[in-house]
Amino acid sequence: MKPFFTPTPIQQLTETFQHNRFYMKREDLIPLSFGGNKARKAYYFLQDMEQQQANCLVTYGSSSSNHCRVIAAVAAAKGYPCLIISPSSQNTPTMNQRLVETLNAKLIFTPLSQVRDTIQQTIEQLKQDGLRPYFIQGGGHGHNGTQAYVDAYHEIKTTEAEENLIFDMIFHASGTGTTQAGLICGNHLSGDTKKIVGISIARDEENGRPVVLESATSYLENHSQPPLSEDAVIFDDRYRAGGYGKFHEGITEIIKQVFIHEGIALDPTYTGKAYWGMMQYIKEHQIEHQTILFVHTGSNPLFFDQFQKFSYTRSVRDEDHLYRNAAASENGLGSNR
Ligand SMILES: *Cc1c(COP(=O)(O)O)cnc(C)c1O
Repeated sequence: MKPFFTPTPIQQLTETFQHNRFYMKREDLIPLSFGGNKARKAYYFLQDMEQQQANCLVTYGSSSSNHCRVIAAVAAAKGYPCLIISPSSQNTPTMNQRLVETLNAKLIFTPLSQVRDTIQQTIEQLKQDGLRPYFIQGGGHGHNGTQAYVDAYHEIKTTEAEENLIFDMIFHASGTGTTQAGLICGNHLSGDTKKIVGISIARDEENGRPVVLESATSYLENHSQPPLSEDAVIFDDRYRAGGYGKFHEGITEIIKQVFIHEGIALDPTYTGKAYWGMMQYIKEHQIEHQTILFVHTGSNPLFFDQFQKFSYTRSVRDEDHLYRNAAASENGLGSNR
């Protein structure tokens, strides 16, 4: 599996809320297992793994984890055994879980409180069996993940130069904080002053923000770079809709609208929640006449989990069909300036 080094596209959206210009960086189009930020990170982990001559992958994540799907795909392509420790859950299997199973990764379910021990035991057992396991933290957290998004930041810079644009703000879904740490370090190392807003999809600010700061700080230390100012990390926890995987109608509605007007799939756990959060943030902070970049961090399989439920909601009402037709002809679908 060769790494991709083609920058992902940045496209302008038809959205013009409060006279802002909106763009989206399509990380969901990274050409590996439905893409996303986990796919970008995976290339870096894979490189590190092969340098260390490991021959077996161990990671951790829930059944809806995009990270686990991508790691299972990488392992399957390379022929490495892949073991995934997952907290037991009563939920119906998600598309990601079904993909992980189809890709022959071994899922080890364990109560949340025993995850740490189970990871250690699994790694020990693999070593005893003569394998050389490589462990990746849940969500692709760690320096390799941060590096992936420092490099993504440089892609953003390249697009800015080519398109003669400057993004004032960058929004994205923030989970373990690695993506945000990478973007913040990229911004810092380039001497830029973009406002980078991580919309938390799970953690509260008290728990999430220090992790972003820690990741960014240790990355900069490792590269002998001057430290960040504390206020570089904006980790907003007000749009979590009750926590990881939870969402409300405002979020599903915006997912529908974005799919109709832009032809882009968002999901309720990550990207749709973050996109909705971005719009709330823009409204609440009265942000106007700015050039705004939303990083689409992937998650298309979760769009389909949600899509299975769409058919039970209001989306099939007649007036929605009328709205869709009107919207399509007004905006000229896909008419990016
Ligand atoms: C994992 C994930 C995130 C969060 O990324 P972090 O680097 O963990 O903060 C955001 N969006 C999607 C689609 C993800 O799968």
